[in-house]
Amino acid sequence: MQLHFLITSEQRATGAMFMESLNDTVLAFIYPSDGARTFHTFFCPPMRIIALNAEGQVVFDEVIDKWKWVRLPVCRYVIETGPKVEYRPFMNTILSLSPELPQVGALEPGTGMDQLLFSLLAEAVADMRRIREVHRNKIDPKIQRWHFEAWERGQIVSSAGFILDFSEACDLPNGAVKLSYSVLKAEEPYIDEIVAASVGGIPWRHEFPSHCMRCGKRASWRPILTPASRSPVEILWRYQRPENAIPICHHCTATLRILREESVRIELGWGLWGPRFEALWQWHRARRNKSLPTNWDLYTHPLWPREYGGESWETGSGALKFAEPRPPHQVLRSEQQMQTLRRVLYSRLFRGRQPNEAPLQKLVDFRHDISKGDSR
Ligand SMILES: [Zn+2]
Repeated sequence: MQLHFLITSEQRATGAMFMESLNDTVLAFIYPSDGARTFHTFFCPPMRIIALNAEGQVVFDEVIDKWKWVRLPVCRYVIETGPKVEYRPFMNTILSLSPELPQVGALEPGTGMDQLLFSLLAEAVADMRRIREVHRNKIDPKIQRWHFEAWERGQIVSSAGFILDFSEACDLPNGAVKLSYSVLKAEEPYIDEIVAASVGGIPWRHEFPSHCMRCGKRASWRPILTPASRSPVEILWRYQRPENAIPICHHCTATLRILREESVRIELGWGLWGPRFEALWQWHRARRNKSLPTNWDLYTHPLWPREYGGESWETGSGALKFAEPRPPHQVLRSEQQMQTLRRVLYSRLFRGRQPNEAPLQKLVDFRHDISKGDSR
């Protein structure tokens, strides 16, 4: 099951997904007709959901603080808000609104909903089948740790949780339900990291441009920082992040002594990724010094603690909504970072014709359509 699919397919939807807290926000969903509706709260902060019928009477009013599907009775209006918000003052405004607004944020009852649910469940059950093939009947935590990548393990536990959520409402294969319990139990010590990896640790290299940032020839993305030996496998995905890599060809690797000199790699990474590399680097050092903030919430900030970056992708945020791997487009580089980049890349001469900065420019201009993940 691809929980990842749920994330990306909903990323552009409005609703409360990926908001850290609804605080005083009131989201109102207005429908042209009455109907039973199903909302979900995956990736949403704790919220109060209120449903009203066409006459404005409250037919549902609950605080939902877990990720789940919520079945609403026949209603016309749905309100999502912070758990303690007093929504009544807004009621008249909401009720007077035109019912011609687009329908976003909720899944309509009927075929669309059933199909989505069915395909998600089918994928989740397929995940459990894969697990059984690897483990036979008993989950071995050691095998789980070494056989799957951290991001896959994150998706597998999401599948397991999903199956358990539904096991009471739907008729699911008994084996899948049992296996889901054991997987969650085996992965419990690692769950924060692998769920973070299920979003931030997905592979990206095949989708990114792979031309040398110095000369433009075919290149591979080479890592900058290397993990300490004996780091647990669950954290290694952060070293595979794009922010810890630069695209550079064989020849330039040798010319610039990329493999031998960490300081050169760091300068290039710092120049290319700006505040995003700084944030990752801070995580890297804090982990080594055992000084990571104790209140780091990996569910809201899977990449690195909140205080290591700014509030946006451009300024180095490690928040969930920026966690999917993206190329260095629009990263906010300082003048110093640009100078460092140029100094390191061009201070040594090229053999023969001197290329200009076009390859570098092409790399930083490369846009990445994140919605591509939807079709997966
Ligand atoms: Zn090159």
